[in-house]
Amino acid sequence: MTQLRNAFLRVMRFGGQTQPMLRRTFIGAVGMGAFGSASTLMAGPNDVIRPIPLRIWVAQRVVEGEAPSAVVTATFVSDQLSEANRLFGGFDLSFEDRVEHGLIVNLTDLETRADRNALAGQLAKGSCNVFFVGRLRDVDDPQLNRMGVMWRNLANLKQKYVIVSSQARETTLAHELGHYLGNGHSGVKNNLMSYERDGGEVFLDEKQGAKARKTARALFASKELQ
Ligand SMILES: [Zn+2]
Repeated sequence: MTQLRNAFLRVMRFGGQTQPMLRRTFIGAVGMGAFGSASTLMAGPNDVIRPIPLRIWVAQRVVEGEAPSAVVTATFVSDQLSEANRLFGGFDLSFEDRVEHGLIVNLTDLETRADRNALAGQLAKGSCNVFFVGRLRDVDDPQLNRMGVMWRNLANLKQKYVIVSSQARETTLAHELGHYLGNGHSGVKNNLMSYERDGGEVFLDEKQGAKARKTARALFASKELQ
């Protein structure tokens, strides 16, 4: 699916359409591609940024005498990913789920900073690591649970990764990837980076899109993404 989508984006860039047209076309065009190749690529309104590789991990509960159970379904993960690709696709950014999901045993309910830090032991180089867990306690206000977080390992601040709870809403992964790509919170209702929603369409603005592209380019240039 992601490959098809990327192929189609390449074709559209080759066509040299204006940016707004490209965006409208893209949203309705998922899955239609497969008739372009990199050799036909020409510079469009945006320079091309490779798909951002994600390394996805899913926590599973392992109890003796019972079958291991993953905290989220494959559909839950792919819905989150589709939403991230839809929202960032308007800025010619995409996320690629390249390898089989890794399983983490028994790091399912994260209560403390130490629990979050413990995930760093799994980190794969060259990708944005995303961990799906069962529950994510708010470490500042333990009365609350979080839907997701872009976390930095306190023992090594260079290690940053996304954690998404099984209680997340559809746009949570996209929101956290927004942080990963350099965007802070917004106070504008229904903005992807805002907590405020009223059921209207979720969006990123031009400035946020430009910031995300700039950050993605820098992450590839520094080889943090490969
Ligand atoms: Zn946030």
